[in-house]
Amino acid sequence: MEKGELSREAFMQDILKITGTIVDRAKNYTEDTIPGDYATLKTPCPSCGAVVKENYRRFACTQCEFSISKVPGGRAFEVPEVETLLTECELPLLDGFRSKMGRPFAAVLRLSKENKLEFDFGQGNEDDEAEFDFSDQESIGPCPKCAASVYEIPTHYVCEKAVGPAKNCELSLGKNDIAAAH
Ligand SMILES: [Zn+2]
Ligand SMILES: [Zn+2]
Repeated sequence: MEKGELSREAFMQDILKITGTIVDRAKNYTEDTIPGDYATLKTPCPSCGAVVKENYRRFACTQCEFSISKVPGGRAFEVPEVETLLTECELPLLDGFRSKMGRPFAAVLRLSKENKLEFDFGQGNEDDEAEFDFSDQESIGPCPKCAASVYEIPTHYVCEKAVGPAKNCELSLGKNDIAAAH
């Protein structure tokens, strides 16, 4: 019995010692290395695979030069958004951005090949989304590639199959290019 109590006392001493050490360590850790309530990302750095941490201005790699703004376009990132960006190299269309003139806008954010943060305003999508209606226009001739009809639009001569959602021809000739060739 007595022996048992003694060892229990010793055990409690050990516990107190260990607890004291843990508390001290936690204290130092808090004071020395965490100046604010900043996140450490679960997703590793896309450049070097090291840990990425938030600091007061940016999300930055702890090992290399990689870092991105915390408030691109005046809109603050949510941590899960940054995780997705680093994993997928792209975020779906987000709104809430503001231009330098204060105009709100929506954009797709992506990481370039150099792992720089870029806005994608959807250039190149315009042709896909624009509705071309050639029904009241006279064709200038058959397409040399697919024999569908070629029409004139303000800047180009295009095959009717080279525009719109069901593209299956590439024929599109810039008028400037043609002028330059003559
Ligand atoms: Zn890195
Ligand atoms: Zn064609």
